[in-house]
Amino acid sequence: MDESTVSVEPSWFRPDVLAGRVALVTGGGTGIGKEISRVLGAHGAAVVLASRKQEVLEAAVAELAEEGLDVSFGVCDVRDADAVRSVVDGAVSERGALDIVVNNAAGNFPAPMSAISPNGFKAVVDIDLLGTYNVSRAAFDASLREHGGSIVNISAPFEQRGVVYQAHVAAAKSGVDSLTRSCAVEWGPYGIRVNAVAPGSMLGTEGLKRFSEAVPGGAPVRPTNPLGRHGHGSDIAYLTLFLCSPLARFVSGQVIAVDGAGSADMLRLQAGPI
Ligand code: NAP
Repeated sequence: MDESTVSVEPSWFRPDVLAGRVALVTGGGTGIGKEISRVLGAHGAAVVLASRKQEVLEAAVAELAEEGLDVSFGVCDVRDADAVRSVVDGAVSERGALDIVVNNAAGNFPAPMSAISPNGFKAVVDIDLLGTYNVSRAAFDASLREHGGSIVNISAPFEQRGVVYQAHVAAAKSGVDSLTRSCAVEWGPYGIRVNAVAPGSMLGTEGLKRFSEAVPGGAPVRPTNPLGRHGHGSDIAYLTLFLCSPLARFVSGQVIAVDGAGSADMLRLQAGPI
């Protein structure tokens, strides 16, 4: 288990809080997505991991199955609406329904705006934003509209602030935040809750590693948030679990930052307790 997947043990949730539920987690084979899959699975959900690389998915499914979880996978590129539909339809016919969707798949290559090509910009928007639309629509059509459920979009806390090397990601994730609210409003009458979780910098993830490498000098990115640490995948996974659980039955249309108050801190002047 790498640093991104440090779990909170024991869980303070009932282990059967998601019993009988079926979840689809895009990008569920790596990093934060794998920890979300682990935590949803450990609380009773059957989890389908979906992304492009079959070998990565197979390894993640083997690891999670070894822990006793009910997991399977489907291969698709979230930019390809037909491929997404085929994975979603397959999950529904295999598992009987789909109750939970976690749109976690994302593209990221840190770069200054002046060095991002039109294709690079488009790729990130297509994976993060169009992908979230494709997966949410397919799940709505195939199952959620029949019985309701919960969608959690994994975003980033970039909507209100500028962030260097992340212009494409910030634009895409701001779109995801907006889509979260629109879907929550339109699909609320179907009993579907839609929320977003916006992680700050997450320890041990590919995203943070690439960001550290991109910063001039290649220095590790230090946590600048008031809590003074990077997050763990489990910090994201447990909020996702809460949002998918009946405890959050009146929570919808929200974008919740999990970033140690980083996005609340305008000036970042404070070095310690005052
Ligand atoms: P990661 O390990 O790089 O995972 C990205 C996942 O997305 C991979 O499993 C990848 O699988 C999948 N993916 C990428 N392109 C895809 C495509 N076209 N179709 C289907 N799947 C695709 O990322 P992470 O760092 O754990 O981040 C997870 C989420 O948290 C992302 O939404 C990210 O934006 C967000 N986030 C992360 C941080 C951080 O510090 N790491 C901070 C803020 C927000 P395949 O390669 O198999 O397709």
